[in-house]
Amino acid sequence: MSGIDVPDTSGLYLDGMWRPASGDDRIAVRNPATEQVIAEIPVATAADVDAACRAAATALPGWAAVPPAERARVCRAISEALAGRAAELGDLVAADLGMPRTLARNVQIGLGVADFANLADTAERHVFEHTVGNSVVREVPVGVVGAITPWNFPLHQIAAKVGGALAAGATVVLKPSEVTPLVAFALAGIIAELDLPAGVFNMVTGDGPGVGEALVRHPAVDMVSFTGSTRAGARVAALAGERVRPVALELGGKSPVVLLDDLDDATFETALRRGMAGAFLNSGQACNAFTRVVVPAGRLARAEEVLADAAAGFPPGDPFDPATRLGPLVSAVQRDRVRDHIEQGIAQGARLVCGGPKAPEGLDTGYFVRPTVFSDVTRDMRIAREEIFGPVLVLQAYRDVADAVAIANDTAYGLAAGVWGQDPQRAESVAWRIRAGQVDLNGARYNPLAPFGGFGDSGHGREFGRWGLAEFLTTRSLQR
Ligand code: NAD
Repeated sequence: MSGIDVPDTSGLYLDGMWRPASGDDRIAVRNPATEQVIAEIPVATAADVDAACRAAATALPGWAAVPPAERARVCRAISEALAGRAAELGDLVAADLGMPRTLARNVQIGLGVADFANLADTAERHVFEHTVGNSVVREVPVGVVGAITPWNFPLHQIAAKVGGALAAGATVVLKPSEVTPLVAFALAGIIAELDLPAGVFNMVTGDGPGVGEALVRHPAVDMVSFTGSTRAGARVAALAGERVRPVALELGGKSPVVLLDDLDDATFETALRRGMAGAFLNSGQACNAFTRVVVPAGRLARAEEVLADAAAGFPPGDPFDPATRLGPLVSAVQRDRVRDHIEQGIAQGARLVCGGPKAPEGLDTGYFVRPTVFSDVTRDMRIAREEIFGPVLVLQAYRDVADAVAIANDTAYGLAAGVWGQDPQRAESVAWRIRAGQVDLNGARYNPLAPFGGFGDSGHGREFGRWGLAEFLTTRSLQR
């Protein structure tokens, strides 16, 4: 872990310049594997947020008038600069978030690189003007975007918003997560090197209730794009609603993976092992993780055996050890929350197949949690209903396909789902019956061009691909 290149985090990026915050408050940033403070970030004051929003508003008409191909060039330049520093930035995210370094490079930085490039392509291909009867309809930038992002995919979530807004011709004030802010400083440094007009991109840092709310309330902000918890998203939507401003919300999940009853034994086992590997990526800290494993009642015992064996392949460890697949959780708060969920599961009568609330052996320092699997989980238990955001899976047994679909849909969320079946047509028909924004068949890979977003408590935004550009556009019409 020595040799991490931590960017200068002393300033805010306002109106085309790095500037010190106007107040003295700072937030410490910790490496979750060592608990050591690795940086401090400024907490922007209301005056700083005001300066950022005004700069974005002033820059808006000019940037909105820049041709899409030029906006695409900027997004592509960001993508290329990120790609050129992928190894160094991967290490930075590994130190800040705790994801194993190779995964951090490939997933965390790789996604950010792809997102900016894809949004560039999308903006170039997009048709911004249409004729409908005697009207010319133009898709125009939504205005000044207040972008608020979480800690779990710090670059990917920022890329969705900053890339989408810039490609659309909108200007941005970003408030990244105060828990993993370091890659945002690196990104702002990359943008500062480009020939982007002052005020098109601005970054203020700090906490949610203070800095985040000041941004959402600011009169110059035309639209808020928020990714984070359902609790904070509801608050952001209420505040924006007071000003009648649109909000895009990308919130939590409690996603199921349904293993249909026609799977042969080998595919059943593959589905379980791949499901766990996906769900434990980033130590289970993914909004779309398949954390509810829905299996035929007659195969529950076999599923327990396979998952217990698979979990043994995820010993938690140092993110900078090449053998590590499961790093720590991001913070002490998150670790305690996850351990509390595990204790709740035990108290409510679920059966531990493996793992548990105690610290993994030999890992008293760092925010580590044992990979944990529960069985005998009923639909009313908290571990079946609430987002845990840690390496914890719950097995839910079903009687028949109708019961499997009912269990999958028995959630306040609706972000993602998986379906595995030997008969692809039958699996697909089950997939369309699950109310989730994106459903993966038989372990299909993530598609960065498909829309990402959910139903219900998962929010209603749609990011990435052309839908991720549309998020930052609105329409005007001229009648002739
Ligand atoms: P969080 O809600 O605590 O914080 C997210 C961001 O919102 C941070 O920048 C935070 O400072 C800010 N914030 C918090 N309270 C605020 C307030 N009152 N007003 C304005 N801003 C506020 O979430 P988190 O713990 O950083 O992230 C984890 C959550 O994000 C999980 O629930 C996860 O499912 C969700 N998430 C969703 C998606 C998606 O695309 N659907 C992607 C990643 C994470």
